[in-house]
Amino acid sequence: MRPGERVLVTGGAGFLGSHLCEQLLALGCEVMALDDLSSGDLQHLAPLLEHPRLRFVHGDVCLPPPPEAEGVSRIFNLACPASPALYQRQPVQTVLASVLGVWQLLELARRSGARLLQASTSEVYGDALRHPQQEEDWGHVNPVGPRACYDEGKRCAEAMLLSYAQQLGTDVGIARLFNTYGPRLNPGDGRVVCNFIVQALRGEPLTLYGNGTQTRSFCYVDDTVRGLIALMASGLRGPVNLGNPEECSMATLAARVQAVTGSASGVVCRPLPPDDPRRRRPDIRLARQWLGWTPQVDLDTGLRRTVDYFRARLGVDGPRPAP
Ligand code: UDP
Repeated sequence: MRPGERVLVTGGAGFLGSHLCEQLLALGCEVMALDDLSSGDLQHLAPLLEHPRLRFVHGDVCLPPPPEAEGVSRIFNLACPASPALYQRQPVQTVLASVLGVWQLLELARRSGARLLQASTSEVYGDALRHPQQEEDWGHVNPVGPRACYDEGKRCAEAMLLSYAQQLGTDVGIARLFNTYGPRLNPGDGRVVCNFIVQALRGEPLTLYGNGTQTRSFCYVDDTVRGLIALMASGLRGPVNLGNPEECSMATLAARVQAVTGSASGVVCRPLPPDDPRRRRPDIRLARQWLGWTPQVDLDTGLRRTVDYFRARLGVDGPRPAP
């Protein structure tokens, strides 16, 4: 990524997108952030809106891109709601964001000779049959379940990228992201890290779905952003897993959030949502070998930073861990 390069970030006002825009500006790029603000928030970009090399455009990724986007040399596609609670409330917008959005951006990449990097997801593995998940795994996804709008949308997006690359020579890359978290997550997002932290700070019991033995591997946002930039710069197609191999059950996560916040509010069990994947951990050998990338921020450090953000955002001092 060179200073002065023109970069389009779709979903640029989102949680991940705003962190990416910040890093790209730090690298000297000219950044256009496109967002329809359906799940993004302009507040995330507030400190950057006066930046001379950032331009924010309010728009829908499913529609033809704004004329100013013609001629960009790099496109990061992050435009899609990622929280199951949110995307299941708007399955039509979710599946279209992946399928129509990617099609619009592939056409833009083709016209402009740009490289398009797609934020794909560990959800392409579904309720994985092999553990940890490797890029060559085909996935085990319910195509008609409540998560299908997201999972199958992202799978179709991957197939579209590869089709354009094979038939038309379009320059594409695919990153499969595993549960990114960090500051700027929306407190009402519905994903587990936000729910647990908000509940702990408010002195409410943490809502544990199922028996809490299901696992995820949480990657701190700065690590994910570094991985995305490295994959973009590498010119590699992938797919490449980007995630932190530190696997954690939801019961353990609840305990760690309580330790980091100093909360003693306990947990309350709720039914496990349908099709909830049981285990998830990335095999990151490819990212290590190809990109020299490994996550740097462990879960407790990342949780502490995220908790600090939520204390300020909610205006709740809440409990504190014993010194
Ligand atoms: N989960 C939970 N309590 C919550 C929210 C989620 O126990 O308040 C569980 C959920 O059932 C899943 C895991 O946490 O097993 C991660 O859920 P999330 O919605 O964050 O993302 P996913 O990885 O399922 O897309």
